[in-house]
Amino acid sequence: MVPQPLWGITLRADLGERWLPEVSRPVRDHAQTCAMCGGRGDCRRSNWRLCCDEVWSYSDADPVVSAVIAKLGTDPAKLRAVEDLIPGLAYQLLDSPPIAKLVDLQALCWTCNAMIHFGHTETTVGWPTCEGVVRHAARINGVDPDAMMERVFYEQAAWLIRSAVPDWSITWVGWEAIRDHRAALKVDGAIR
Ligand SMILES: [Zn+2]
Repeated sequence: MVPQPLWGITLRADLGERWLPEVSRPVRDHAQTCAMCGGRGDCRRSNWRLCCDEVWSYSDADPVVSAVIAKLGTDPAKLRAVEDLIPGLAYQLLDSPPIAKLVDLQALCWTCNAMIHFGHTETTVGWPTCEGVVRHAARINGVDPDAMMERVFYEQAAWLIRSAVPDWSITWVGWEAIRDHRAALKVDGAIR
């Protein structure tokens, strides 16, 4: 789940019209299958079987997330109640401002992408669909749906904590290397 201060900050937004021919299409064409479940995607849900997902790491925030969750648990209501206190707590625990870094590009089916961005999924589709997304994720992770929901609560708690940190450093230095790596794997001629 993308921390709120980072919403809209994407390679896709930065590249504009170059995103589709230079990044998204080559990544999807090369992958052919979903990076998470190995499925071939669901053409009923979008124009494309697969989407191109930006994989971001949120360094320095992980210890904060773990420490805060250790203190507060993953109860979303409890976390929201202390949301105002979290920034101060985060700064106490951080050595330096956290860094959001684009580390990879991957092709995902609709369902796995919906799991990665579960917060967005919850706000855009009904619960029966969300339940199906959780069941799918549970199956590919080899856990039961209840255990998968616990992971969702953890991720939602992590999202709340990360969203309370306003001054992220952002880097996608090296995304060309990711693209060139895909090109080296002989994707298609669209990469220039
Ligand atoms: Zn998938």
